[in-house]
Amino acid sequence: MIARGYLACLVMVAISSACRADDPAPGQPWVLRGTVVAPDGVIEDGAVGISGQKIEWVGPWEAQPPGTHVVETQGTIYPGLIDLHNHLTWNVFPRWRAGRLFPNRYEWQQFPPYLKALADPQQALVKKGLGTRMARYAEVKALAGGATSLAGLYAGDLPPGTASSYHQMMRMIDLNSGFYPPGVPEKVSYHVFPLLMIEPVAAKMRSDLKSGEVNCLLVHVGEGSPVDASSIMEFRLLKARGLLLPGVNIIHGVALHAAEFAEMQGLGIGLVWSPRSNIELYGSTADVGGALAAKVTVAIAPDWSPTGSDGMIDELRYAAAWSAAQPHPPVDDRMLFRMATLNAAKIAKLDDRIGSIRPGLFADLLVLNHRATDAYAALDHATASDVGMVVVSGKAVYGDGALVSKARPSTAWTSVTVGSSTKSVALPSRPLDEDWAHTTSSLEAALEAEGTRLSPLSGGP
Ligand SMILES: [Zn+2]
Repeated sequence: MIARGYLACLVMVAISSACRADDPAPGQPWVLRGTVVAPDGVIEDGAVGISGQKIEWVGPWEAQPPGTHVVETQGTIYPGLIDLHNHLTWNVFPRWRAGRLFPNRYEWQQFPPYLKALADPQQALVKKGLGTRMARYAEVKALAGGATSLAGLYAGDLPPGTASSYHQMMRMIDLNSGFYPPGVPEKVSYHVFPLLMIEPVAAKMRSDLKSGEVNCLLVHVGEGSPVDASSIMEFRLLKARGLLLPGVNIIHGVALHAAEFAEMQGLGIGLVWSPRSNIELYGSTADVGGALAAKVTVAIAPDWSPTGSDGMIDELRYAAAWSAAQPHPPVDDRMLFRMATLNAAKIAKLDDRIGSIRPGLFADLLVLNHRATDAYAALDHATASDVGMVVVSGKAVYGDGALVSKARPSTAWTSVTVGSSTKSVALPSRPLDEDWAHTTSSLEAALEAEGTRLSPLSGGP
């Protein structure tokens, strides 16, 4: 089928330079047509040329080379969204509502209803060896939210010996990004409790940050109410441990204020903002306006779905609505777009590989289904049903069946229910050689045994 389409096109090329094949030959360049959100601005009728894993060219549609397999999206093409703060395996659990606010993370992590609803069942599922299935389900959930890269799949949640080679559909940038040859360690490191690092580990981390062995350390710091004493103290404790260094980036930072933002800016320390989870747990979120005024690089990410958003798109929509409701809205649509793409890539020191649509970068792309008049506002007000296609490393992996089957006609696509929509995903045969029904039924049974249930991929109660 593919070969025939390609040969037909070659014949047609001889006849007409306007030939556009229906099927791409394996490894052959292809083109996505739509409104393109490029670094220098929006190209209304644009196209992105993809060759192998990379973006080959970007420009107006009329400049596209003839004879290439074209996928007409009728939509808007963005860089794939980069999620720097998640806890992937926990996203199989339904939304958790504590019915109260907490002063800081230490409080809810000791709260018996939290242990019963989330912590104990999560450990039980991991002990049963379900980590790879949990990650598969949660990857599809993240793709449904437009993410192509993510940090926060904890290696200890996966079966022993499998973490370093873990790969399903997305990039796990702190585990196996796909950017380096096998055996080369990732340069992004992710820690939930940096203050619990024993000294030899902290010393190694300081040394790795100085040598560049690690060039992005993501740490949870200052997660609590802005006036909570222990959350405020965490920044000072991080500094006292010698870990306030270039290359370090702070997740949450709700308890950070002008002095800390100034210090962070001086060291090039970025902030990863997770408004929904903060507001649900603490009733307040980071002073993102203060961080931006201090010229701190700010990214946005959903934390996890039990108290944050199902995915990046939902977190962007939440942040846009929250900002608009503030007396002086701290972020606009364009800034939110930057936070989810280029700023996140800069924080992860990966902006030479991902985060924008430019030639030479990896073709990690998100297509929304409409040609937007304001592409930034459209992204920040989209829902998971608007996602037409997600491309990782030059390959469509998720989206609407009609669109993804044009991009990869010979791929076996699996239907999944995302909210009220049906989407398609290209499930790999490794590390799990099983169909989606088997993955979900295994998870459902294990969750039921723990007194809970599987969260929907989008729009849970
Ligand atoms: Zn977190």
